[in-house]
Amino acid sequence: MRCDQCQYWRRLDTRDVPDLMPGHCHRYPPVTTDTGHDASNARRDVAAWAFPLVYASAWCGEFKAITRDA
Ligand code: SF4
Repeated sequence: MRCDQCQYWRRLDTRDVPDLMPGHCHRYPPVTTDTGHDASNARRDVAAWAFPLVYASAWCGEFKAITRDA
């Protein structure tokens, strides 16, 4: 199992560094990332939200293999 073989992973970088290539995991909606934002405004600031960033060689229990139908 690897993120770069999972339906939810989208690469960010075009460099050919297979194991350390970063990508976003789209298994779930974005999460808030920046604790420096004013809490009352953070939910409306798009810069405070992001998809988890994971390496191509990572994986988690939500892994779903890429299929031809995906
Ligand atoms: S973190 Fe899990 S769900 Fe997300 S791309 Fe990697 S294996 Fe898939």
